[in-house]
Amino acid sequence: MPGCDPFGLCQYQTNKLVRIQSVRLGSLKWSLNAAILLFICVMMLWNRKYQEFDPVVSSVTTKVKGVAQTRIPGVGDVVWDVVDYSGPSQEKNSFFVVTNVIVTKNQKQGKCPEVPSKGRPCRSDQDCERGAWDQQSHGLQTGSCVRFDVMKKTCEVSAWCPIEAKTTPPRPALLTAAENFTVLIKNNIRFPAFNFIRRNILPQMNDAYLRSCHRGNDSLCPIFRLGDIVREAGENFAAMAVEGGVIGIQIKWDCNLDRLMQRCLPRYSFRRLDEKESNRTLYPGLNFRFAKYNTVNGVEERTLYKAFGIRFDVMVFGQAGKFSFIQLIIYIGSTVSYYALTTVLIDWLLETSCYSAEAGQNYSERKVESVPDTQQCILCVSYVDEKKLRLVKRSRKKSLQDVKPMSAQPRKEDSGHLRAVLCLLQPDVSVDLSARPPPDQKPDPEPRRHRPGWCKCDCCAPSVVPAEELCCRQSDGACITSSPLFQRLVSDRSLLQAVLLYQDPLSPSVGGAQTAALRHCAYRQYISWRFGVPPDDTHPVIPSCCVRRIREEYPSPDGRYSGFRPVRMVSVQTQKNGGERQSSSH
Ligand code: ZN
Ligand code: ZN
Repeated sequence: MPGCDPFGLCQYQTNKLVRIQSVRLGSLKWSLNAAILLFICVMMLWNRKYQEFDPVVSSVTTKVKGVAQTRIPGVGDVVWDVVDYSGPSQEKNSFFVVTNVIVTKNQKQGKCPEVPSKGRPCRSDQDCERGAWDQQSHGLQTGSCVRFDVMKKTCEVSAWCPIEAKTTPPRPALLTAAENFTVLIKNNIRFPAFNFIRRNILPQMNDAYLRSCHRGNDSLCPIFRLGDIVREAGENFAAMAVEGGVIGIQIKWDCNLDRLMQRCLPRYSFRRLDEKESNRTLYPGLNFRFAKYNTVNGVEERTLYKAFGIRFDVMVFGQAGKFSFIQLIIYIGSTVSYYALTTVLIDWLLETSCYSAEAGQNYSERKVESVPDTQQCILCVSYVDEKKLRLVKRSRKKSLQDVKPMSAQPRKEDSGHLRAVLCLLQPDVSVDLSARPPPDQKPDPEPRRHRPGWCKCDCCAPSVVPAEELCCRQSDGACITSSPLFQRLVSDRSLLQAVLLYQDPLSPSVGGAQTAALRHCAYRQYISWRFGVPPDDTHPVIPSCCVRRIREEYPSPDGRYSGFRPVRMVSVQTQKNGGERQSSSH
């Protein structure tokens, strides 16, 4: 009862489906579904979708080892050990190895000429400004112009003298031997959600193993040769050593903590992080300066080092997964929609010409029910002098007779009704018919009443409702009500009573209600006769002359009639079918 349930609380609605009996489509559906299931299973196992994941938390420490001897210009042979080449500071998760160096020895506080590459060349003291400096200068200008060498003069500065003169690093790099240095990387990780702790130095690795292992014989070895790291990053150590650079050491932990498949091992990979092509970039490589101070005869001196080197950044990332029932349910739920692809694909196949066009048309007719908007009321009109049915839009101003048709459709014969007609035209009945005048002659001797302008048959009654202004003909001629068949098929009382009794075998057969029922039954008989099966979603309209004739035959006691109301064809058809069966058994 929709009236007392405005929110539809006492209702359940479900979709109506169309089942197509087809071996081809059935096997296509199952093949597609099987392919989708296979895809879902592969994705689930491959990406471990049944697990919940926790990101890694880690700490890294490094220890570099190695000794190298090198000849530094102006200093002589020097042995470099870890303290010398690791630089003064160790940052978090990274280590630095000096590979090249410019040394300026015995610098003291004093006055000396600025190097020509950093300062402005001068001719006289006027060119120099006392106290001036810029970003490039090594000290404050004193205001005098002094000779730097035989050729050039530069402004004198107060600075650490002598000033560092060399600007480009030595080639080849002084500490190319750093290639053979090794580094031990210690990485402790933790997955807090699973309370799982691990180290990259695995429990089975003992001291003897660590002394002998290298990346060539075991990819899990935590000790790396710097040359190997740079080579695996796709670089040349000797070239990179000149100006320095940054190399990333990536440690990836992808752990499966499920008991059956437990696996939690690090994977190392290397790549260069800074700009590779030094000749195309400004400020390439990596360098910084540091100094060592000492006092000679009470005067402070320093040795300045400009160190070039490679910084290695250790980056740890990864996750651990463990079976989770909830994740499994969520994954399965998220994949259910994939099965809709089967429907989409097969529906598309049916609609396109890939499939048999006839079958596709059949399916889409069964599947799609077109329902017109309530605003658009399409009327169906049948003229006795035209073979086809006309579809007309309802107009509120023009009489229906004058409205231009949207389209004409062939009449779909109602076979049941046709059978009934043939039954009636048997010889014993036809005697009666022959007594009637032929239909093309004007039978009605009644004088012309004022015929409405739209009427062509002279029998229609004037009306105020435009939709009721319809004649039985398109051009002037005899009225359909004058046909002997009209009397036999539409207005015959015994036929109509039999039809009503067929529909309701125990109906009372007297009273005013009976007359109204006979009248409405006559309308339905007319529709079946003249329209056959009306096109879907159209409302057949009975011509004014026929309505008038039926009303004369079965009048309403108070002279009031409901008038034209568009009727849904579904109900008309079901009632009509009952009527036909009755009349055919006559
Ligand atoms: Zn008429
Ligand atoms: Zn007529």
